[in-house]
Amino acid sequence: MSRFEYAPAPESRSVVTVEPTYGLFIDGRFTEPTGLFPTVNPADETVLAEVSHAGPAEVARGVAAARKAFDGVWGRMSGAERGKYLFRIARILQERAREFAVLETLDNGKPIKESRDVDVPTAAAHFFYHAGWADKLEYAGLTASGAEVARPHGVVAQVIPWNFPLLMLAWKVAPALATGNTVVLKPAETTPLTALLFAQVCQQAGLPDGVVNIITGDGRTGHALVEHPDVDKVAFTGSTEVGRSIARSIAGTGKRATLELGGKAANIVFDDAPIDQAVEGIVGGIFFNQGQVCCAGSRLLVQENIHDALVERLRRRLTTLRVGDPLDKNTDVGAINSRAQLDRISGLVEAGIAEGAQAWSPECTLPASGFWFRPTLLTGVSQTHRVATEEIFGPVLSVLTFRTPQEAVAKANNTAYGLSAGVWTEKGSRILWMADQLRAGVVWANTFNRFDPSSPFGGYKESGYGREGGRHGLEAYVMTGAGR
Ligand code: NAD
Repeated sequence: MSRFEYAPAPESRSVVTVEPTYGLFIDGRFTEPTGLFPTVNPADETVLAEVSHAGPAEVARGVAAARKAFDGVWGRMSGAERGKYLFRIARILQERAREFAVLETLDNGKPIKESRDVDVPTAAAHFFYHAGWADKLEYAGLTASGAEVARPHGVVAQVIPWNFPLLMLAWKVAPALATGNTVVLKPAETTPLTALLFAQVCQQAGLPDGVVNIITGDGRTGHALVEHPDVDKVAFTGSTEVGRSIARSIAGTGKRATLELGGKAANIVFDDAPIDQAVEGIVGGIFFNQGQVCCAGSRLLVQENIHDALVERLRRRLTTLRVGDPLDKNTDVGAINSRAQLDRISGLVEAGIAEGAQAWSPECTLPASGFWFRPTLLTGVSQTHRVATEEIFGPVLSVLTFRTPQEAVAKANNTAYGLSAGVWTEKGSRILWMADQLRAGVVWANTFNRFDPSSPFGGYKESGYGREGGRHGLEAYVMTGAGR
């Protein structure tokens, strides 16, 4: 018996079914649910379902299943055969796109137009892209020196955050499978549902048992997973704090690791920028997914002589944003993912005001229940303010100024992070110079938050190491270099 059935639009017959309880997905089947904990809809705080908490014993079962699949079938399969499975998964994701989009919005709180138009299609695109790579790894030089064939690491432990649950899963699972690894993946505790639906997709695609295992739980489960001695590689996306602790815990074990961590991107606007596009890029850069984006353009650096005019334009644009029901296709800004995240955002904004910043938000009525935060502009921010240095991970834009390109670069790079940056100017030579100077893994010019499976994504400094996407992303999943 299912507890909920959601009909997303009156004219649509498509419905997503949420089971009352979920087990873990190990060795091709779901286990009996145990140690249940709830996952709530952040837009109204109702419990959507209860999922199992995997302890060390369940983690070990997941790793054993992945090992058996690696040694038995997957590690020996030709790239062409592996590619067929990835193509199948990609097509099923497309066929079930509506179901995935609605479930993602229910569990995460993001607007349906984002799940529908960005998260789900981009996840499918990652499987299509990596399906194409599966039989071409050797031609791309993805072999260890002296070896004829590309060699996977073996069992990969993958731990992902809650801001793009399905997309982060696709970024992790697709390259791992394309290169012949098997996977144990742990979704975030507040957004486990699309990963569990993805487990059904694996079954539907006929993926051999144990190639993908999905175990749910909190940080303790993630910790047990990355610590497990039979794990060959760890792929983690999440906060810098947890990334650091993972790096410490696996040091000296021989496990490989890629860490995709936090960010505090500068979005830099020069006085010659195409202002209408810049306003759209700034708004999309920080309010997309309620600002809960690692590469969000959370620091606006604006050339001093256009500061007042640009802030005025931004205010006018912000008054047109529709905040509310994430399932309404006209909604621009949805719910914050959890109460803990809402408290963090509120606390940082209060700290910013206490340090001297001025906060402004458009008038809007927020729903009575759920976790909500109005889109917010913070002006008068200085480089030392916490809102200029710490990741807020919410719909809050800190505005700073600069006079010269050199000053813009110095301020943009004055951060512990280095994940992304944006530059808005009509001058091509300045774009190239800025891109060269900025210590950021991605630099967007006259656009922001563009993602493509063929483009490597990753950070400098405390934003982590390793790349996801493109040929670079595959490197992390095969043995390269001499003597490997
Ligand atoms: P988080 O680090 O709290 O949690 C991420 C995942 O790690 C969750 O699944 C969690 O259960 C698990 N976890 C927690 N403690 C663990 C431990 N000790 N060992 C192993 N796993 C553990 O991060 P979050 O709050 O879920 O996500 C937000 C963060 O993720 C932000 O800092 C954001 O910038 C970052 N992020 C980075 C990227 C990127 O590509 N660089 C993408 C998305 C999000």
